[in-house]
Amino acid sequence: MIINLAIIMSKSQGDVNGIKKEGKSSNVFDVIIVGAGAAGIGVAITLQHVGIENFIVVDRDTIGSSFSSWPDETRFITPSFPSNSIGMLDLNSIAIGVSPAFSMRVEHPTGKEYAKHLQSLSDYLELPIKENTEVKSIEKIEGIFHLETDNETLLSTNLIWAAGEFQYPSVSGFEGSELCRHTSTVPKYGDLEGDDFLIIGGYESGIDASYHLARCDKKVRVFDIGSPWAEASSDPSIALSTFSFERMEDVSFGKNVELFSETPVSSVTLVGDTYELKTEDGHTFESKVQPLLASGFVGSHKFVSHMFEERDDGFPLLSDSDESTIVPGMYLCGPAVRHGNENFCFIYKYRQRFAIIAQSIASSMGIETDEFVDAYRRWGMYLDDLSCCGQECLTC
Ligand SMILES: Cc1cc2nc3c(=O)[nH]c(=O)nc-3n(C[C@H](O)[C@H](O)[C@H](O)COP(=O)(O)OP(=O)(O)OC[C@H]3O[C@@H](n4cnc5c(N)ncnc54)[C@H](O)[C@@H]3O)c2cc1C
Repeated sequence: MIINLAIIMSKSQGDVNGIKKEGKSSNVFDVIIVGAGAAGIGVAITLQHVGIENFIVVDRDTIGSSFSSWPDETRFITPSFPSNSIGMLDLNSIAIGVSPAFSMRVEHPTGKEYAKHLQSLSDYLELPIKENTEVKSIEKIEGIFHLETDNETLLSTNLIWAAGEFQYPSVSGFEGSELCRHTSTVPKYGDLEGDDFLIIGGYESGIDASYHLARCDKKVRVFDIGSPWAEASSDPSIALSTFSFERMEDVSFGKNVELFSETPVSSVTLVGDTYELKTEDGHTFESKVQPLLASGFVGSHKFVSHMFEERDDGFPLLSDSDESTIVPGMYLCGPAVRHGNENFCFIYKYRQRFAIIAQSIASSMGIETDEFVDAYRRWGMYLDDLSCCGQECLTC
């Protein structure tokens, strides 16, 4: 990992158990971050950098646990490259001066490799992290957030919700969906038994699963409500990534995978030992193998829906600082951030909002942020003008 020590100026003095504040003991943190994934660790580093010390990151599991739970074969679709030396941050980096490509020597890391990267980064920067602490409920009482965990109530003036999507899969949507298995629960595609797979959902996870199964010479049929492999958009939040298109060129993919565009699934039933998948256009497909759901994620923001107004698409409505419009001090960080039509579902997108949140909280505490904002802006890590987003690439 490459760290620019001139940029990472301060290290947290916060004591996870003792909770220090300006040298005195206090019960109340300035900030609690829920979730120690890419978003939680990334925003924690910006808090440290802007000069906020009395904060903590809590996670129900361990640092990067969603990444550790990816199927063994699954890799990042966004490439890592050590481009930092000319001021272009590695696409999978969550902090200025850091390059996963440089530290891991791999272009498309596996989830487990990336979790290790987050762990080393947290250790190096001595981030105050409390693992194995699940937040069960949140209330704001007289200006203070109360977070209930199994053992204690954590208190804070500001709260950053960075609990991600992966651990909150979407498992409904049609009759019999509970008979299927979500891809987020598969430890390794190579260990799945059976030869004939039905996959519901043909975006990144569905194509990823198809590719690995096809490489094991399994037959795969993929059903999608749309046609992600035929989208004209150059935005990987809408169309498939280049990495997936390349994989679809693999001989085993061509030989073993059949794609069904614009084919919504209406039901799955188990008749004897055979799964019957019916599509809305009246066709029935059969397999002895439990169908796989690659239908995406509900997202953890549903857990805190009482703290946000809801947009028409179900995502939280946010202020220009990614703060709730109804509960001051409550922020959302990570792939569920939406502004207008802009979707921040990849690391290289949502990382550009970490410093916006840090600046908002720091300013409310009277901390000067001009130098901090300049540094982040120079590195493409401070995106406040969204008019640049949504532009398509030229066809050539
Ligand atoms: C198969 C797959 C491939 C992907 N590939 C890419 C890619 O190539 N590039 C890219 O940029 N993005 C990719 N993504 C998206 C990427 O995974 C997300 O951007 C990233 O995981 C989001 O990070 P996060 O920190 O928001 O969430 P997570 O990594 O899920 O972290 C959330 C953390 O919150 C904790 N948590 C949850 N609920 C609670 C609670 N109640 N109390 C305490 N802790 C809690 C969890 O334990 C977890 O550690 C991919 C996603 C998937 C599923």
